[in-house]
Amino acid sequence: MFVYLLKILLLLTLQNTDSMRTEMVNTQLINRGIKCELTLKAMSQVERHQFVPYNLQSFAYDDRPLPIGFNQTISQPYIVAYMTEQLQLKKDDKVLEIGTGSGYQAAVLAEIVKNVYTIEIVKPLGLQADSVLKMLDYENIHCKIGDGYHGWLKHAPYDAIIITASPEEVPKALFEQLAEGGRMIVPVELTHQQYLMLYTKKNNKIRSKKLLAVRFVPFTRSKK
Ligand code: SAH
Repeated sequence: MFVYLLKILLLLTLQNTDSMRTEMVNTQLINRGIKCELTLKAMSQVERHQFVPYNLQSFAYDDRPLPIGFNQTISQPYIVAYMTEQLQLKKDDKVLEIGTGSGYQAAVLAEIVKNVYTIEIVKPLGLQADSVLKMLDYENIHCKIGDGYHGWLKHAPYDAIIITASPEEVPKALFEQLAEGGRMIVPVELTHQQYLMLYTKKNNKIRSKKLLAVRFVPFTRSKK
């Protein structure tokens, strides 16, 4: 209890969220093997507390996912950093995210790359994320409400694609919208356990690599 009160006090004095982020980066990311400098810098810059419900802001830098309403969650900081690192992003990249949720992962990506396109199926979440991202001046993030199953053809191909909800199979359209040399990371449901799968496209062929066991909310489909 005392620790929580202390955290609330720290959050009230805004400049101290910097030190909370530094601690998060050191203990949760660097200590667990995240090395990519661009990822670490982005994670220390994005104000995670802006992306969680007001009553949970004091837990924003904790080592865990948090509920964001509508049965959805903002991922644990380590998982956000891990997925970002695996995408091997470069500054001119164009990235597609399926599952905007709170908008936090999109903001982390947008600190690194030129443009981020993100799709959210739950309208109020997508609208909320869009307004937070606008308030924080992320002009290089483009939000859309809809079913990400079909990707976002208009801006394809993408250098990297990230899905932050778990499908049983990766939608075919997303492989098609991945650029030559592109990387895609997806928490795929394989026989009762989800694994992060990394796909790379070379000479128009897809290679896959199984990474961590994870737990994400399900990938849903809009009703026709
Ligand atoms: N990246 C988010 C995590 C959100 S949780 C963050 O940083 O906060 C996953 C999100 O995927 C949920 O908001 C869920 O509504 C959304 N989602 C699930 N299926 C989807 C689909 N078919 N298209 C778009 N979004 C989807």
